[in-house]
Amino acid sequence: MTKGIDPAATPSGSGCVECDAAGGWWVHLRRCAQCGHVGCCDSSPAQHATAHASASGHPVVQSFEPGEDWFWDYEQGKGFTGPTLAGPTHRPLDQPVPGPAGRVPRDWVGQLH
Ligand SMILES: [Zn+2]
Ligand SMILES: [Zn+2]
Repeated sequence: MTKGIDPAATPSGSGCVECDAAGGWWVHLRRCAQCGHVGCCDSSPAQHATAHASASGHPVVQSFEPGEDWFWDYEQGKGFTGPTLAGPTHRPLDQPVPGPAGRVPRDWVGQLH
């Protein structure tokens, strides 16, 4: 197994785990390549994907956005092309960006990182 990647780990869900628990919102989603945790990107208010990597020691994420299959290695600080992970490999197509529906504030642009 490539360090930080378990192709058999399935995604935790269709939205950021911590944002869904707290009623938050996100811009884009990233999926932990090791355990399947889905978190929000660094442009999002809470940056849960990076927080998960720091807290868990899981160093690799893959984009969870439709049409994107890039990986990012936090330890190396660079992107790369990796194996195909267990599906689904992206959020539902009808889920808006930013999302999720009904939780994005009117002034969301001003809250981006
Ligand atoms: Zn989040
Ligand atoms: Zn993880």
